[in-house]
Amino acid sequence: VTNILDAKTALVAEGRAFYQKGWMLGTSGNLSVRVDDGLGELRAAITASGIDKGRLEIDDILILNEQMEIVGEANGRRPSAETSIHWAIYRSDPTIKAIFHVHTVATTMASTLVDTSVGQALEISGLEMVKGFDLWNAGAIAQIPVLPNHHHVPHIASDSESLLQGDAPLPAFLIQGHGMTAWGKSVSQARKHLEICEFLCACAWEAKRP
Ligand SMILES: [Zn+2]
Repeated sequence: VTNILDAKTALVAEGRAFYQKGWMLGTSGNLSVRVDDGLGELRAAITASGIDKGRLEIDDILILNEQMEIVGEANGRRPSAETSIHWAIYRSDPTIKAIFHVHTVATTMASTLVDTSVGQALEISGLEMVKGFDLWNAGAIAQIPVLPNHHHVPHIASDSESLLQGDAPLPAFLIQGHGMTAWGKSVSQARKHLEICEFLCACAWEAKRP
């Protein structure tokens, strides 16, 4: 998806669907798709701040440039407070096309099973669904990174930047007590990684909760 209208249409559909699953309640979460600006600069379509995802419309999607400034119509909307996290991920790899951040019960709770310091991961083994993260070896362990939550969002963005400089991280991470972020080289791959992360976290929480 590189066309702006296609990107906006895709985000409206994904946002409404995730809302129906209970993953974007109370205006939470944010979704983005990279669009081509023809100049080689980062540009992406992203959900605006404080929008009900169950009633998401085309006008609720903003186009932001490399500096996270609105390009074109603002329609009275403001950029998402968590835009800086999306930008850190896009900058880490030019092949990343879509990033979804949602607040689900399972990822919020499973993230509390791990210590808060940076570099910690939720380890999940013995589950067929780890294959959804391209882990095909027998006995593969999915290590889903867990970042500490910070009131100051750019702090989370800088932690995610450090994380993505490491070796072959999974295309998803949790933010402790907050939710998950997953991405992919297409909208459908980002959705798949989000669903896999949700499933694995739901299993981890079911198995380990106090
Ligand atoms: Zn969030």
